[in-house]
Amino acid sequence: MKLNETRFNAPAVTMGLLLLVGLPFIVGLLVQYDYLQELKQVSDERLTLYEMTLDSELRKYEYLPYLISENGMVSAFLTKGGEGVPVNRFLKRVNTIAESSVVYIIGTDGVVKAASNWDRPNAFIGLDLGFRPYFRDAMEGRQGTFFGVGITRGEPGIYISHPIKDRDEVIGVAVAKIALSPLEHLWKEGGETLFVTDANGVIVLTSRPSWKYMSLTPLDEGTIQEIHNREHYPRFQLKHLPWKTRTRFGFVQETTIGKERFLMNTRGISGTDWKISYLTPQAPLWERTLGVSLTTFVLLGLAVLTRLFLRERRQREISRQQAVEANRIRDINRQLEQEVEERKRTEHELRAAQEELIQAGKLAALGEMATAIAHELNQPIAATKTYVASCRLMLKRDKLDDLDPTLRKVSELGDRMAKVTGQLKSFARKTTDKEIEFDLRQAVKEALNLMKHQFVVENCDLKLSMPGQPVQVMGDRMRMEQVLINLFRNGLDALQDTPEPLIGVRLYEDGDRATIHVWDNGPGIAEEVGKKIFEPFVTTKKEGIGVGLGLSISYKIVKDMRGDFRVANREPNGAEFFIHLPLCKHQQEAKL
Ligand code: ADP
Repeated sequence: MKLNETRFNAPAVTMGLLLLVGLPFIVGLLVQYDYLQELKQVSDERLTLYEMTLDSELRKYEYLPYLISENGMVSAFLTKGGEGVPVNRFLKRVNTIAESSVVYIIGTDGVVKAASNWDRPNAFIGLDLGFRPYFRDAMEGRQGTFFGVGITRGEPGIYISHPIKDRDEVIGVAVAKIALSPLEHLWKEGGETLFVTDANGVIVLTSRPSWKYMSLTPLDEGTIQEIHNREHYPRFQLKHLPWKTRTRFGFVQETTIGKERFLMNTRGISGTDWKISYLTPQAPLWERTLGVSLTTFVLLGLAVLTRLFLRERRQREISRQQAVEANRIRDINRQLEQEVEERKRTEHELRAAQEELIQAGKLAALGEMATAIAHELNQPIAATKTYVASCRLMLKRDKLDDLDPTLRKVSELGDRMAKVTGQLKSFARKTTDKEIEFDLRQAVKEALNLMKHQFVVENCDLKLSMPGQPVQVMGDRMRMEQVLINLFRNGLDALQDTPEPLIGVRLYEDGDRATIHVWDNGPGIAEEVGKKIFEPFVTTKKEGIGVGLGLSISYKIVKDMRGDFRVANREPNGAEFFIHLPLCKHQQEAKL
């Protein structure tokens, strides 16, 4: 992986985006739901309050026409006629005390007979109000309540009527008009939005003057005509108020009037066919929803940004650490390379030093050898001299018979000297001359063949074990034979005093190498020889029998063949030698 590689996890990103958008949306919905419930409760309370105010306003004046109808002066005026001024004054007083808009009396013919505003320019007296529904209700003996707009001043109000009776006969109608505009002002000043609709759905009272006398449902021609006939709202055209409504969360009405949105709560006013509607502006709801959603979005965004920032920082830290690590590894590698170089150089130097040492060792060995040779040869040379001198004397004295044994001794001495020099020749011989492939079994057989006679003379038994197929190695077969002969010779020498002398030879393949195991049941390697056994001139043999070069030469031969030479003592007695040699390549491959 690259150090600065960033993995793009698509599902995680999608989830993150969904969370970023979805959560503020859900929170917004929850806030809306909660706030709408709160608004609904508040608007319910307000509606109850305004309904009660309206109701109390109506009830407050309910008694007024009744009281007037019960007045004797009024009924006398209606039955007997006469001076109207006292009745008018009475009505004016009553109107002032009750704080109503106007009170008046209508005769059975529908014409106003007396009114509290008798002394005003647009006094009601003489007006024919026979068409008013409240007049008809009262004429039929019932109390009437009617919302309408005044004919003279066009002022909206509630008309409450009561029949004036003489015994059981209706002789006139007492009416009190209550202006509702103060109530509307109160609503308006309170910043409230509400309206009252009549049975036709026409807004008759509202805190919004522009909505007044507009109908919530489009009215058909017939209804409009009927309303005009009754002169409900004579000066106003009954326009339709364009509004739409839909239910939110199953419990609130969302109403759009013009460009404004409200939550509408409507309730019927008891005792009338009117309805009162309280409207709560929706702007604060959206402000709050938007505010909370935005806050959630911003907070989430911040959380996401913080997370991204931290991740980025961690990533950078990891990259930095990886870079440091990479640098460290590079440094280590460089160091290693340097060390390897150093090693190689040291090895090279060591090898050179070793070569020098070997050379020096060879020289030293040569020195030692020279001493040994001198020592080995001095005695036979001296003896030869003596024997030659004796021969000359014998010749002089003509003792020819004695000459032959003496000359044989000289010849023996010559043989002995030849043996020493022969061994030296082997030591000095170069290795790479005859590097050919040969079968180790052949070498073993040949060596044993050469030693056959000695085995018989020494009465030594032989235990031989070799594989059926060739065991091919690279090297000089003659030199290997020399090694084996030397081992057998040493074995036979060591077995001089052993009762049942036995020499064992086992040749076998061991992985990618061949092993020749030579052992005997003799006394084993003497302690003083120990680890020095492969060094030159180490011998325990009597003077003249061994010079201590056999094993050191053998060791060199085996090493030259890239082999290994080991020696050990056997339990309970005897010595053993292991020669390990690498098998030829094709033989190794054949085994695989
Ligand atoms: P040499 O035979 O001339 O002594 P070698 O190098 O062949 O020289 O042997 C060195 C010495 O190793 C011998 O003198 C002998 O003490 C010891 N040695 C070699 N082979 C055997 C053996 N099979 N048993 C006991 N000792 C051995």
